[in-house]
Amino acid sequence: MAQISRMQLLRGDFKGENKPFRPPWSLPEQYFTDYCTRCDKCIEACFDELIIKGRGGYPEIDFNKGGCDFCEDCLNVCETSALKKIPDKQNDDAEADFESYLPPWQLKATINLTQCLSMNATICRSCGESCDDEAIKFNLKLGGIAEPVLDSQQCSGCGACFSVCPIQVIKINSINTQTNVA
Ligand code: SF4
Ligand code: SF4
Ligand code: SF4
Repeated sequence: MAQISRMQLLRGDFKGENKPFRPPWSLPEQYFTDYCTRCDKCIEACFDELIIKGRGGYPEIDFNKGGCDFCEDCLNVCETSALKKIPDKQNDDAEADFESYLPPWQLKATINLTQCLSMNATICRSCGESCDDEAIKFNLKLGGIAEPVLDSQQCSGCGACFSVCPIQVIKINSINTQTNVA
């Protein structure tokens, strides 16, 4: 039976069948496991201890300890290009004076509003306060309800809101638009 991490359990992946979340700037999964030598350098480089040794010894992201600040420390120590910035060929902005790259990953947060404390007249702003991207705003309603509204365009999928939710109703999801490597 496959070993299941706490992160997988919280994602509802009880059988361990979903693809794990890899470190930021990971190649698409079919390339990642070819390029990654399981050297653990990215694991050692992450000051926030967000990268763990996952199934098969490959690195996985675990948001239980907090969110990624995209410091690039893991990217910079990867010698095999399993973690690699990929130029965004769609961005032909002639004004840009720097090369633009695809986002570090295709992850977005969602909130289960039915169970959210703030939707049930209990004061809680933990997710909004943890979001440096200001992707979560609270919409005040009658009856002491403040509805958290998550702007997925704004959301970087950093995962900072995941571990601070006291009742674990935030999920981080893959939007699964993997990009082929040039
Ligand atoms: S540094 Fe690169 S090769 Fe080493 S474990 Fe991390 S992703 Fe794999
Ligand atoms: S970018 Fe920085 S914080 Fe994010 S996983 Fe890599 S080393 Fe950790
Ligand atoms: S809403 Fe998105 S950007 Fe904001 S903390 Fe959560 S995962 Fe990060």
